[in-house]
Amino acid sequence: MRASFLTYLGIAHRIADYAPWRVRLPTDRGPSGDGPSKRRTNTRGFGPSSIRTLIIAAGLLFSVCPAESFGQVPVSPRPLILISIDGFRWDYLEKYEAPVLRQLAKEGVRAKRLIPSFPSLTFPNHYTIITGLRPEHHGVVANNFYDPALQEFFNFKTNETSTDPRWWAGGEPLWITAERQGVRSACFFWPGSEAENHGLHPSYFKKFDKSVSCVQRVDGVLAWLDLPAEQRPRFCTLYFDTVDSKGHLYGPDAPETAAAIREVDEAVGRLLTGLAARGLRGKTDLVIVSDHGMEPVSADRTILLDDYVDLNSITIDFAGSNAGLRPKIGTAGELVEKFRGKHPQLSAWLREEVPESLHYRASGRIAPVVLSAAPGWTILSRDFLRMKRLVFERGAHGYDPATPNMGALFIANGPSFQHGRVIDNVENIHIYNLLCAALGLKPAPNDGDDRLVREVLVR
Ligand SMILES: [Zn+2]
Repeated sequence: MRASFLTYLGIAHRIADYAPWRVRLPTDRGPSGDGPSKRRTNTRGFGPSSIRTLIIAAGLLFSVCPAESFGQVPVSPRPLILISIDGFRWDYLEKYEAPVLRQLAKEGVRAKRLIPSFPSLTFPNHYTIITGLRPEHHGVVANNFYDPALQEFFNFKTNETSTDPRWWAGGEPLWITAERQGVRSACFFWPGSEAENHGLHPSYFKKFDKSVSCVQRVDGVLAWLDLPAEQRPRFCTLYFDTVDSKGHLYGPDAPETAAAIREVDEAVGRLLTGLAARGLRGKTDLVIVSDHGMEPVSADRTILLDDYVDLNSITIDFAGSNAGLRPKIGTAGELVEKFRGKHPQLSAWLREEVPESLHYRASGRIAPVVLSAAPGWTILSRDFLRMKRLVFERGAHGYDPATPNMGALFIANGPSFQHGRVIDNVENIHIYNLLCAALGLKPAPNDGDDRLVREVLVR
């Protein structure tokens, strides 16, 4: 069944890629009017003779397919909602009160720990989860970084970065895989979801706004599921940031973090109630993930860059749990030697020396000198420490993904997934292939394999 369907899907995929006549539905605007109003069809260098060939091929296809299914994927309308709870450490599920999430984990499949990619930061890992590519391959190599080819800085906090396709072109996010194969997608926040990719956007998406409450985010996704069938998305993302924010501010052991977990747990409960009210609870696949865990940090465990180098002689791409440095004077080799072996809690590498286990060499966006602090330690400048000492954050992430406290959350619950299973630690590069399999999509090339498909999907 699956094989014959995928064979069909392969044909639909290829045609959908190139067909300027691809069926599009009358409205591509989100329920609140902030979705994309236009699409571009990606013809990617196809000349007139290729188009002629395709027209002939399309004619042949018309002879075997009803016209109304052209460009659409003929699968059951089972929705899949991918939920990210930013900064939800793997052990929060037991450590804190989270009855809804715990029940979903118990009834579905849970990984012991979801292992993030290096650096275990928000933007690189959200883009890894949604593309199946490691940061060195999708190119979002940190929350802040410099691209020597573009001669520009990526700053995750700016609107320009969120919408500029040049930063996101290194990977094909799942919402684009879906749209290219005729499956509507909708993003209630996800890094990269506001930028055009392969000439497309998700059918519906929201501009990130931290002030939108958890409840409003859930209700927004439910509103998409209330759309008429032909406009309704089958793949939705839903993103919560409050557990991460409180974890940074107060630390992973604080009551404020516990309260944020309760708030998100209740929001997921609201989603389940909303699905049940629509008769969709047992027909909807849910995959709940986080991007990384959280480690306690303090101003007493800092490594000050200016103890080792004149700050006027370098550019700092980013600093924190790791740092990316570029020499303004001298060579990268000279710069790395200023740090190498100088602090017991600090590793210093040239980009090409970063340990293979971290998979952090292949992108030109990775700084020529990479510093990495031991868990719990922070790399920063003396001025920054002076400025921040009184409000120094209590939690941080970005450390080596093998650090237990960097472990993230993975739960799959729904008719496509197995029941009552706990699987071993698994890297987040494998999630994209699982989501594609659950949606019946052909995945774009990626760094993952089929281990989650084999272990989680119902056969
Ligand atoms: Zn995060």
